[in-house]
Amino acid sequence: MIKIKTEEEIELLRENAIIVSKTLAEVGRHIAPGVTTLELDKIAEEFIRDHGAEPGFLGYGGFPYTLCLSVNETVVHGFPSDYRLQEGDIISVDCGTTYKGLNGDSAYTFPVGQISAEDQALLDATKASLYKGIEHAVAGGRVGDIGYAIQSYTEALGYSVVRELVGHGIGHHLHESPEVPNYGRRGHGVKLSENMVICIEPMINQGVKDVYLDDNGWAVYTADHKKSAHFELTVAVKKGAPDVLSTFAFIENNK
Ligand code: MG
Ligand code: MG
Repeated sequence: MIKIKTEEEIELLRENAIIVSKTLAEVGRHIAPGVTTLELDKIAEEFIRDHGAEPGFLGYGGFPYTLCLSVNETVVHGFPSDYRLQEGDIISVDCGTTYKGLNGDSAYTFPVGQISAEDQALLDATKASLYKGIEHAVAGGRVGDIGYAIQSYTEALGYSVVRELVGHGIGHHLHESPEVPNYGRRGHGVKLSENMVICIEPMINQGVKDVYLDDNGWAVYTADHKKSAHFELTVAVKKGAPDVLSTFAFIENNK
């Protein structure tokens, strides 16, 4: 069942989305060679609590950390650890909050120091595909329009789209209906209605689309160990144009 949000709920979702967006920027300011991913997790937890919110992932389904930190061939759901970031890595930072009974959820893939042109192209394409998808988060459209936009854009550049993990509705629960795949067919899938709120989150691989699950039951890796990128924003479906609740502006304008 898809829950259409009230205007009040959308404003609370926006408050969550802004806290998440600022947390991603705070984490980003600390990303550098030599920093451990566990240190980044602590920074995020403290920042979220300082803003009166709770980490949304901590304890969710048993997930033991504030952030999902996914380096290089890790697609999503990487555990923070004592791994020290190295020059040339890429790291997806996925962050959730719970605040005033609603949830926030967004992700950004950061370069660590100087990265290769090939890896920068992957980041650029994945983020661009997210915005291509967001353009279709309008009332009267279909979920398949979003997936088609992401898939057609990234596959034309030679990348592949992860199938096993998808975007989702968000509200009082972190993951609500509908599922929002990053692949699909135009005009197919769930019809989008005004004030549905969804997280669009392309996971795009340099190599094959296939992935496998870590023995820990969480971390997802590319089957060929090539790199994967992940960007996510929370979007309220509106007539004519979407209302994007989270933002990368705190990350990109503070550099
Ligand atoms: Mg997320
Ligand atoms: Mg999500």
